[in-house]
Amino acid sequence: MRYVFNPAPTVSVPVLGTASHFPVHRIYCVGRNYEEHAKEMGFTGREPPFFFLKPTDALVVVNAGESAAMPYPSLTKNLHHEIELVVAIGTGGKNIQAGDAHKHIFGYAVGLDMTRRDLQNEMKKQGRPWCIGKAFDHSAPIGPITPVDQAGDIANAEIYLQVNGQDRQRSHVSKLIWNIAETIEHLSAAWELQPGDLIYTGTPEGVAAVVAGDTMTAAVTGLEPIKVTVD
Ligand code: MN
Repeated sequence: MRYVFNPAPTVSVPVLGTASHFPVHRIYCVGRNYEEHAKEMGFTGREPPFFFLKPTDALVVVNAGESAAMPYPSLTKNLHHEIELVVAIGTGGKNIQAGDAHKHIFGYAVGLDMTRRDLQNEMKKQGRPWCIGKAFDHSAPIGPITPVDQAGDIANAEIYLQVNGQDRQRSHVSKLIWNIAETIEHLSAAWELQPGDLIYTGTPEGVAAVVAGDTMTAAVTGLEPIKVTVD
């Protein structure tokens, strides 16, 4: 095969404790998947899960024990942090039943669904796609992937984010409206999942703005935490 220019490199995420990397296929994100966050965004009640995507080259990979920087993005005056548990799919499939979902999970990571909230709100108001608010460059920091058998009891893990050492978000994965298995069931009804897919499962309450110079520390019990500074 001869290309007219060099193709972009495969985006990948390191697998904790190994020399191997997880090659990324797609990044799916779940909207409003914690009740208290849904409320702070002006919604109540349980609605079917809904999804959006980010481009794979929006990932900012944070290696174990290191920190990373993300540039303050263009066009926004209200950049929000959203700490999320990320599910890494190892075995693809469509119409996966919740009871079988665990067979498709390779591992988990800590991620940030960074959001240009002012632009997202404007798009919501106009009924337009969220891409400009959600899918911008460097919008998806992520830590190393911990394989499932080393990740502990993720369904009951604590999930939290601090900015400059101060608590902003703190909740439990058990408070997901649609749990990991149910999310995979819904998602795989709409798209055929592939090995290499990442699922950002949604953020708990406490989303707020960060500015240049802020450092975010994000963690889920049992997984490698990440530290990301906004440049
Ligand atoms: Mn989110």
